[in-house]
Amino acid sequence: MLASLRVERYGDVTRLRMVSVAGRGIGIDVSAYVVRGVMIDTGFVRARDLLLQAVQALDVRAAIVTHWHEDHAGNVAALAARGTALLLRTDTEAILRAFPRLELYRRVVWGSPTSLSAPIHEPELADLVCVHTPGHSKDHQIVWDASTRTAFTGDLWLGVRARTVHSTEDPYAIVESLRAVRALSPDRMFDAHRGLITPAVDALDRKIDWLSATLATIESRIQAGDDDGTIVRRVLGGEDAAAIV
Ligand SMILES: [Zn+2]
Repeated sequence: MLASLRVERYGDVTRLRMVSVAGRGIGIDVSAYVVRGVMIDTGFVRARDLLLQAVQALDVRAAIVTHWHEDHAGNVAALAARGTALLLRTDTEAILRAFPRLELYRRVVWGSPTSLSAPIHEPELADLVCVHTPGHSKDHQIVWDASTRTAFTGDLWLGVRARTVHSTEDPYAIVESLRAVRALSPDRMFDAHRGLITPAVDALDRKIDWLSATLATIESRIQAGDDDGTIVRRVLGGEDAAAIV
């Protein structure tokens, strides 16, 4: 068994929590969420069969992807082939139609996704709104359900102290995006890795404060003449487990 999937219920929201064997070893899992027949994110390719079973069982009629990363968009190709309506940003779709090159540890943990070749058709989703929240990746978006004041935030939040800021991330854009979601005053937030976060506003405020303070510290270190490696070790606490793998 290369992956497992656990179903958890939070009232109107169903969490599909997926973990690969390699991911379990380093304590990383990822979730897709289903609300009123719409799935947010699609998991990684090694969980494909389990995810498709859940799509069938939960009568999922459409899927939205928060960003192109393989643990979120890993099963877009399989869903498109099956005829599930998909809502992707155009930049996300362009990346998925090319073959994204993944770093080794990401292929080990999540598997290599197949590139998207089937045409996609877009669903009508009057009651769910996508908000572009770049930073973690340029194409990152969150899904906002105003009827329940719920934000499905993908990889925007990821805990208050995410120790490693990946080189492809733009931490200044992340702060702006966190503020944009904070301005919606969400009651609930569903994070792709941390699950249900409530009260959401509180968690967003703490992340905004921590990240802003961290960036200010880095700026002052740069002005004091520290080299990059020293700054990373002192301020960000070194590389995390996933980066070492
Ligand atoms: Zn990501």
